[in-house]
Amino acid sequence: MSQSPVTAVSLWWASTDSDLERIALDDAASVSPDGVLIRHDRLARCGVVTILPIAPRDLVIAAALVNAAASRVWVALNGCPVGDGLLPLRHADQLAIAGTTFWISAESAAVRTHYRAAEHGPQVRCALTKSRLEEGQEMVICPGVPGTPCGRVYAAAAWETVVERNPLMKCMQCGYRPGRPAWRPPDPVARKDLIHGLRPFTHRG
Ligand SMILES: [Zn+2]
Repeated sequence: MSQSPVTAVSLWWASTDSDLERIALDDAASVSPDGVLIRHDRLARCGVVTILPIAPRDLVIAAALVNAAASRVWVALNGCPVGDGLLPLRHADQLAIAGTTFWISAESAAVRTHYRAAEHGPQVRCALTKSRLEEGQEMVICPGVPGTPCGRVYAAAAWETVVERNPLMKCMQCGYRPGRPAWRPPDPVARKDLIHGLRPFTHRG
């Protein structure tokens, strides 16, 4: 399937003791040398990291342009220090920038469209009813779950009556359920550990 199931990309952040905050990443967002998000585009040039939404491809949903070495700002991706350059960002990636932790997340929704053999391939069958879709028939493409794109095809009527109306039903391939709560960064206790870095696994006493 060429259609991307990602419908929105969010940027989350939390400094050591602050509450979690979130914005929709519709435009580039920059982070200042002291780890503060700069939302105004005209100020973006003074950021040490600029996070850009991109057209989702495979699991990559955004990119981070890191220009932090000159300001001696420490930047880490998922706990690993990174140098200046362009980093691909995937769902649930964590960026630590000068004492503030950022996360990127993708929300996805099922794609509703009409079956066209030329676009979707010949002899496509509904994953539920196993019946062949007819040219022009309404169909739903499963978006997948975070980190796992799906693309399984359902006849729209079957999806509505069987999957959407039954809270126990989910995509047979990936487990996606319409209306499932969106992803959130780890809880505050886990966040503090991430922010403070990994502690050695030693037990005393
Ligand atoms: Zn699925």
